[in-house]
Amino acid sequence: MPDKDDDHPSIPDPQEISRKLSDFLKSNFGDQVSFSTMGEGANPFATEEKTSGEDHDLRDRDGDIFEFDLLPRQIKDHLDRFVIRQDEAKKALSIAVCDHYNHAKYLRRLEKDDPAKAEEIEFAKQNVIVVGPTGVGKTYLVKHIADLIGVPFVKADATKFSETGYVGADVDDLVRELVRKADGDVELAEYGIVYIDEIDKIAGATNVSGRDVSGRGVQTTLLKLMEETEVAVRNPQDIQSQMQAMFEMSRGGKPSKDTINTRHILFIVSGAFSGLEKIVEKRLRQGAIGFGADSVTAMDESDLQESLGTQDFIEFGFEAEFIGRLPVRVVCDHLEANDLFDIMKNSEGSLIRQYEREFEAFGIHAEFSDEALREISEKAAEEKTGARGLMTVCEKLLRHFKFELPGTTISELEIDGELVTNPAGRLGNLLLEAAPVGDFRLVGELATFRRKFEQEHGVRLNFETEAIQRLGALAEERNQSVLSVCEEKFRDFQFGLKLIQKNTGRDSFLLNGEAIDKPDQYLSNLVVASYRDDSTETVAEGESDPGESSDELDFGSSEVDSKD
Ligand code: ADP
Repeated sequence: MPDKDDDHPSIPDPQEISRKLSDFLKSNFGDQVSFSTMGEGANPFATEEKTSGEDHDLRDRDGDIFEFDLLPRQIKDHLDRFVIRQDEAKKALSIAVCDHYNHAKYLRRLEKDDPAKAEEIEFAKQNVIVVGPTGVGKTYLVKHIADLIGVPFVKADATKFSETGYVGADVDDLVRELVRKADGDVELAEYGIVYIDEIDKIAGATNVSGRDVSGRGVQTTLLKLMEETEVAVRNPQDIQSQMQAMFEMSRGGKPSKDTINTRHILFIVSGAFSGLEKIVEKRLRQGAIGFGADSVTAMDESDLQESLGTQDFIEFGFEAEFIGRLPVRVVCDHLEANDLFDIMKNSEGSLIRQYEREFEAFGIHAEFSDEALREISEKAAEEKTGARGLMTVCEKLLRHFKFELPGTTISELEIDGELVTNPAGRLGNLLLEAAPVGDFRLVGELATFRRKFEQEHGVRLNFETEAIQRLGALAEERNQSVLSVCEEKFRDFQFGLKLIQKNTGRDSFLLNGEAIDKPDQYLSNLVVASYRDDSTETVAEGESDPGESSDELDFGSSEVDSKD
């Protein structure tokens, strides 16, 4: 019996066809001619982050678009969790997004009930232009909005479009990229968000970028996209995707929608627009001649937000038509050292959490003190790259720690002000204390155990070198993982430790070799000690007797005895 594939005997898949074509061209024309496709790897926007749509999905449970029911205040509340400052931007964006998706929702309903009326409805799209320096959260805002609503989001730099000869730097690719982000769901992509940064670089004529000819061309093309146009789902230049379509058709697949309508795509553009405030000041000064022109002083962001007008963007070098399609204008704040501190301390997406996780993966518990965060913020503010400066400073500061400490017995890293001012000194001291732990897996498993223990019981365990070595030896002897040895050894430790915590307030314990050899006795000694008045002081972790090296801190019986 012929099976289904016999109907289409040997159609190779598109990748194979492109490989064959490529070989064919090479063997006939040598290296002079090359064959390129626009698969994912060749995508000019491939660096973009994927949105998760974790909270609200534009598609409801039955798979129907349109589930939009957010209020501007709810969107702002969501943004407040991640983005520090930028209140005006948050409000303006929240409103624009609500208006945009509410209108789309309304039209969608109307199209079903009264298609003729839906055709007649006029609506000025709330595309947004965001003015602000680099690293102040422009992209971050848009990404979190897209995340919240559950629509695909694509970001690109406007400068990419004016680079001549750049394969695929075609504005339509932005829209096609939305489809890819939506996993091929064209309908969802039609409600996506396109974010174009560095838009100031395509301003023409009077501006500083000197790109006026190509810039105007790009403005015109973008204009079409921002209004309403149909974009082919498959790039006509992209042989592979065309072949893919043929391939699907020949296999009897359902022809999917082959164009994307851009009517409901929200466009957000942004740029630093350096010199824009001078243009506004000049205009205000001219307007104020004879009426105290001198009173027009240098403006801050809120003045700019207040005074910024269409004519200023035109003066900057934009076509009136282009800027007219971007009715919502928002100015983002500069970030001062205080804001950077706030970002690290209070933003849910804080870089600090990332560093803590990275160290934790090596079995090192890193903790940043407020003083350290202040120092880091001050240094980062000097970089003048907004919150990006934080990454630069932290990276430089902690790189050597991240290289030297993993695989040693160091399991605590206190990142305080002193470390920030003298990192080399602190690292040197730590390395004096540190002993290598040959087996990296051992440290990793121990870190997993500690993390789990802390999560479950609210008590942190640390291990001395001796304890780590014994655990490693035991695991090897028994042919078990370190994790399971720990689980067995410290099975009931939480009860005793929680009691001590109650008595003394301690939530961190450093275990020595004895804790591995005789865990029960070790624990009961600790518990007894915790009933003594002064036990908090004697056992506070990190404090050692002058004669002891900190590597040998002991909370066991000997200490109890010595206090008697
Ligand atoms: P840009 O304004 O150049 O688009 P981004 O939004 O890409 O800057 O910011 C870079 C990173 O810096 C973000 O991913 C985020 O981690 C952090 N960041 C920037 N601004 C803020 C802010 N206002 N609040 C919290 N984090 C921020």
